[in-house]
Amino acid sequence: MHRILIVEDEESIRTGLLDLLEIEGYETAAVGDGEAALEKARQWKPHLVLLDLMLPKSSGFEVCRHLRKHHPDIFVIMITAKNEEMSKIAGLEMGADDYITKPFSVSELLARIKTRLRRRGETSAGSGPDTLEFGDIRIDFRRYEALREGHSLDLSAKEFQILRYLAARSGEVVGREDLLQAIWGYTLDNMPTTRTVDNQILKLRQKLEHDAAHPIWIKSVRGAGYKFDLEGAPSAE
Ligand code: CA
Repeated sequence: MHRILIVEDEESIRTGLLDLLEIEGYETAAVGDGEAALEKARQWKPHLVLLDLMLPKSSGFEVCRHLRKHHPDIFVIMITAKNEEMSKIAGLEMGADDYITKPFSVSELLARIKTRLRRRGETSAGSGPDTLEFGDIRIDFRRYEALREGHSLDLSAKEFQILRYLAARSGEVVGREDLLQAIWGYTLDNMPTTRTVDNQILKLRQKLEHDAAHPIWIKSVRGAGYKFDLEGAPSAE
């Protein structure tokens, strides 16, 4: 059974979500602040966290950042209020897998949760190589481990997912919309700006490429998307 942790300081919403998800057959737990969320995540190891942005003690952003760093396999759906438009983008860059805006419908929330957890099943079934070697870099996707000449590189869960997706399609051009659907779980009628992808690719290049301005592995294909080149040949651009 899937475990879902609810992090929400408003008691009526917290209790409502708890009841709803239990009726839906999920194993659930709920906490009311950021510190309790981190403690619970560590002990209980949920598959998915519903994370309110505005929380007492530590904010949803801080909790999210911590979860990404220490529990990269937990899915995070950020809950933002309607007037926090900017924070959606920030939340995604902070490593949240998805966001939902209050007030949201029950059916929308359940659909998002199901999509995430289903994707989790697909990912663990293997949607790319388990390991990858290029240049002086070695990646182990199962262990979320990236090494350059034996030294650990600090990649986020999202960065591992993107790299794995691109590597599975080595030599092919992968469009930004394709990545937004596959990695972030967006649908075509629900697409954010493709800047989200570009920002993540930039971060990935800064960590993996010797010169992020002249990448040899993660290449841009103008007007089309990105391409992973296992040979690491200099780009024509
Ligand atoms: Ca709140």
